[in-house]
Amino acid sequence: MIQDIAPHTFNNEYTPSAPKDSDYVIVVDDRRILLKEHAGGRLMLPTVSDLLRDSDLLSSPAKSASEAAAAPNPVPDHSASDFLSQTLTYLFSIDETCFFFLPETPAARAPYQYVNEMVLRELEHDYLSFGAATAVQLAQWYTLHHFCGKCGVATVHSTTERAVICPKCGHIYYPRISPVVIIAITDKDRILLTKYSRKGTKRHSLVAGFVEIGETLEDAVRRETMEEVGLRVKNIRYIESQPWAFSSSLISGFAAEVDGDPTVHLNTDGKDELASAEWIPRDELACEDHSVSLTWDMIGKFRRQEL
Ligand SMILES: [Zn+2]
Repeated sequence: MIQDIAPHTFNNEYTPSAPKDSDYVIVVDDRRILLKEHAGGRLMLPTVSDLLRDSDLLSSPAKSASEAAAAPNPVPDHSASDFLSQTLTYLFSIDETCFFFLPETPAARAPYQYVNEMVLRELEHDYLSFGAATAVQLAQWYTLHHFCGKCGVATVHSTTERAVICPKCGHIYYPRISPVVIIAITDKDRILLTKYSRKGTKRHSLVAGFVEIGETLEDAVRRETMEEVGLRVKNIRYIESQPWAFSSSLISGFAAEVDGDPTVHLNTDGKDELASAEWIPRDELACEDHSVSLTWDMIGKFRRQEL
């Protein structure tokens, strides 16, 4: 799965250090991330040395290429090196390489481009896919916590932990993670595979959803199953978990057996409803290789009779 990066080691302790040339820099524009195109069309995260070499990028802050064209192009009154060391926010490290967040959105120009964050699932090195996605999650969190929700005054970064602090009321904001359940619903030798109707979704999935306020994980399994496919389940068993940065989630994977009538009643209400849900016999399951996701890890376990 995406978090399985051995022999590399993810170090999420908050131990800020000065940026090195080989460290990676995360630049986001909403859910898009700035990548640099290398020879052969290979997309990579920019490093500190990339941004020092192409420091004109840093002097053209703009939300879009059209805004950049219309805006003056101010020359920074300090060197790019000073600018980066004063501006970059430390996120975490993988092995000896640190990931930093640049809290600005410069206009991109070749060989740089903003791409949808889902492209990060397919970076050249698996550990970079995980690192980049996790870095985007943290960058989004910092971006949404410039101000205190209680006082409205600008927050400051804690120097001792990954948190921002309100200088007026002292409230401390930590990154929030949203719990999600994914459920492998089985009926003897069949498993229920779904497809979501949102545009562009072709892959099969399992029933899934966010845990609501006041629920246990098992409550969420029962509610989501009833809401989405109209089925009762029993023998709910925890299988495994996965951090999923793309929705700031921690996913808990469960197996559950259908309880009673296995007839599916699809939920067609809501903005993220299912397009289909069908029982697939074990011996007809495709060996699809979506190795980054817990969904397909669990489907693979069912196919191999390991669930
Ligand atoms: Zn406050």
